[in-house]
Amino acid sequence: MITKVKGTYDLLFDETRRWQALEQKVRKIFEVYNYSEIRTPIMEYSKVFHRETEQSEMVTKETYNFLDRSDRELTLRPEGTAGVIRSYVENKLYVNQDVSKFYYMGPNFRYERPQKGRYRQFSQFGIEAVGSDSPYLDIEVVSLAYETIKRLGLKGVRVRINTLGDAESRKNYQEILVDHFSKHKETLCEDCQKRIDKNPLRILDCKIDKDHIALQTAPVPAEHLTPAAHERYMLVLKGLNEANIPYETAPKLVRGLDYYSHTVFEIEADIEGFGAQNVLGGGGCYQKLVQELGGPDLSGIGFAFGMERLLLALEAEDISLIDEDKLDAYILTFDNKDSLVSTTLLNQLRSNDIKAEMNYMNRNFKGQLKQAIKQNASYLLILGEEEIKNQMITIKNTKTETQETIPNKIVVKHLKELLKK
Ligand code: AMP
Repeated sequence: MITKVKGTYDLLFDETRRWQALEQKVRKIFEVYNYSEIRTPIMEYSKVFHRETEQSEMVTKETYNFLDRSDRELTLRPEGTAGVIRSYVENKLYVNQDVSKFYYMGPNFRYERPQKGRYRQFSQFGIEAVGSDSPYLDIEVVSLAYETIKRLGLKGVRVRINTLGDAESRKNYQEILVDHFSKHKETLCEDCQKRIDKNPLRILDCKIDKDHIALQTAPVPAEHLTPAAHERYMLVLKGLNEANIPYETAPKLVRGLDYYSHTVFEIEADIEGFGAQNVLGGGGCYQKLVQELGGPDLSGIGFAFGMERLLLALEAEDISLIDEDKLDAYILTFDNKDSLVSTTLLNQLRSNDIKAEMNYMNRNFKGQLKQAIKQNASYLLILGEEEIKNQMITIKNTKTETQETIPNKIVVKHLKELLKK
């Protein structure tokens, strides 16, 4: 048997419907906020993600890289933002001199150890607002992330927020951080030892050293901001207060990617059985990414949510996004030689938006009845010998078990009226 690739999954039946319902719900809210959908390729030239400044584990250790048949270096996208910005630059959208607002949803690929809720092909939806570094845009984007999760019906939704400051703040802070971690160099994990010179900010995010005294006592970015960066951060927090968005400041939050500056944030919720694994997604500002990908000096901000984790959260909280799968009608015949009559009727029903099904498996009447019940048909349309001879149809309501026999000419109209009730 050929199996699916490790770390991937199939979506079947009701699961697919749950995905569609989630997609539909988030599309609706993104449209209200005036974001439009962007669909970028799943593969990009490797340099879109593998940039010198990007030393995050996700990009350096987890990407699927390959050479195509003409030896081009390609990468399956591990996240959504870089591809969107590549497209923004390539299509010169900055000439609009306004904010370009996009949302996206689709698969990403990371070579991670698969476990519950963690896959090698997984999906995210997210947004990017590019072309302005206005703090008011941060307020919009954080509000939108909060509102998206809130509208799905989860409880205790809240924001964790921090700032990394502007380039100058980051530079000052980085020096202080190098100084601090250098004093603890020998006892830090191997990766963190390397990070001291390359990317000290990353150390704050280290899973291995998270309880290390050096991390516990590390200086935090918010204490080393330039006055302008501080003022900007205060304005963002004020905006969230005004919008009644519940948030807590998280001074050590740095997020997983290296392109962030100023505001970074995560959204969490109270989810049964999730414990500390309750972060559903997050995002932040990026001041240099547009430039790094060949565009002008423009800033952007975005967020992304993992769809698998979100759907697990909704399930854990007993929140159903879909109605029960149902058929309006199932056609039954007593004799399989009458299937042509069923086919004609089936076409007629479907042309009138009635969701109907018939038997294709040569089942006897009892077998067909079982299928109709299994598929949750509201009505049975029975074509017996008498009915066919007299151009009639028997309609039976599967709930009340009442039935009537009517001329087949009026079956669509009659059934539509019954379904309306
Ligand atoms: P990140 O892009 O790493 O900030 O992740 C954003 C969200 O995507 C996380 O909160 C997860 O919900 C989800 N996510 C990241 N990696 C995976 C994965 N390998 N499998 C499933 N979901 C993931």
